[in-house]
Amino acid sequence: MRDCLARMEVAVSAPLTYAARLKEKTGRPVIGILPMHFPAELAHAAGAIPTLIQDDPEPITVGQSSVFNFYCGYNRSLTDQLLRGAFDGLDAILFGDHCVQLLGTADVIRAERPDLPILFNQLCTTLDAGWAARETRGTFSQLWQELEALTGQRITTEAARDSIRIYNHNRAQIRELYALRQAGAIALSARDMQTVVKSSMVMDKSEHIALMDGIFAGLPSGPAQGLPIYLSGHMCHAPKPAILDLIESCGAHVVGDDLFTGWRYIHADMDESADPVEAMTRWYLDKNRRVPCPTRATRGGDWETYLLERIESTRARGLIILMVKFCEPHMYFYPEIKDAFDARGVPHLLIETEHDDMPLEALKTRVETFVEVAGRKAALTTA
Ligand code: SF4
Repeated sequence: MRDCLARMEVAVSAPLTYAARLKEKTGRPVIGILPMHFPAELAHAAGAIPTLIQDDPEPITVGQSSVFNFYCGYNRSLTDQLLRGAFDGLDAILFGDHCVQLLGTADVIRAERPDLPILFNQLCTTLDAGWAARETRGTFSQLWQELEALTGQRITTEAARDSIRIYNHNRAQIRELYALRQAGAIALSARDMQTVVKSSMVMDKSEHIALMDGIFAGLPSGPAQGLPIYLSGHMCHAPKPAILDLIESCGAHVVGDDLFTGWRYIHADMDESADPVEAMTRWYLDKNRRVPCPTRATRGGDWETYLLERIESTRARGLIILMVKFCEPHMYFYPEIKDAFDARGVPHLLIETEHDDMPLEALKTRVETFVEVAGRKAALTTA
C-alpha cells in the first residue's frame, strides 16, 4: 500500500510535471481544469490529459501584484503559477465562473497569456430553476464542440460513455475507501486520504485505478484511535497536509468530510446508460441535493442540515470547518452552520486557512482544546 501511496504522492507533489511527462510519452494535449463543477470526463474522451489545477505550495511572489490581496490563496496561487511559467505546458484551460474572484483571475490569465486557449463556459448557478436543464445541456454541448475543435478529434458518444465509466469506477474505489474508514475497518490518516483524492484529480485515470487496486491489497486494519470528527469546507483546493496532521495529532481522527479534495469530488457518479450530455447535466444539476455547495443555489437542501445529518451518520463527535481565507461563498454560509450547530449543541471549530505559512503552534492549542471539550461532551452523552 505504501508503494502505491508513494507513487500517488509523486504526482501530487508536482502535478504539472506529471502531466508534462505523460504528454511527452503519449503526445496527448494537456488541459488544465478549474474546480469545482466541470467534468474532466469530456476532456478525457477527447483524448486529452485533464489535470485539475491545484494550489501550489510556493510562496506568492510575482503574482502578488496582479490580483487583489483579498483574493483567496488559490486565486493568488493561480496567477503566481501563471507568471512563473508553470502553465507553459498546458494546451488549454477549462474555466468556469463559480466565484467572482475566479473571473478576475481568468482575466489576468487572458491578458498575460493571450495565446493560451481558455474554454470559458458559464454553468447556471440556480440548479433547480426551470431553465437550468436546458441551459446546462447547452453548455455541455458547446464544451463538447470546443474540445473537438481544440484537440482536432471527434468525441463519439461511445468514447464519452467509456470515459464516464472509467471515472465512475475510480470514484467508486475511493468511496469504498471512505466507507471502510467510516466503519472503523481501516486506520487511514486524513493525509493519506487526501493524497488518494488529489492524485485522482491529476493522474491518468487508468494508472490511478491500478494504484487503488494496490492500496486495497494492503490496507492497514483499524480501527483508528482518537475522537471521531468530521471536516467540512475548503472549496477548490486541498488544505495543507500539515493541518490534517495537526488535527489528528491532537487526539482526533477524521471519519468523514465534505472537502472538495475529498468526498465532494468523488461522491456521485454519472449515469453510464444515459446520453452523455444528459448524464453530465443530471450529475451537475443534482449536485446541491447530494452535497450542498455554497457557490450554487438550490431551494431546500441547506448545507447546515446536510452537515448535521452527516455528523449523525458518521458518528462524529464534532465538526471542524476549514475555511479558505477570503472565500466569500463559504463566509456567507458559515453563520447558518454555526447557528444550527450551536442550537443542536454539537461542538464545532472554525479554522481559517491561508496559502502562506500559518502559526501552527497557536492552532494546535485551539484544536487540542476543541478535542478535549468535544471528548468530554461525548463522554457525558454516552454515560
Ligand atoms: S476557494 Fe472560494 S474564493 Fe477561492 S476560488 Fe474557490 S470559491 Fe472562490
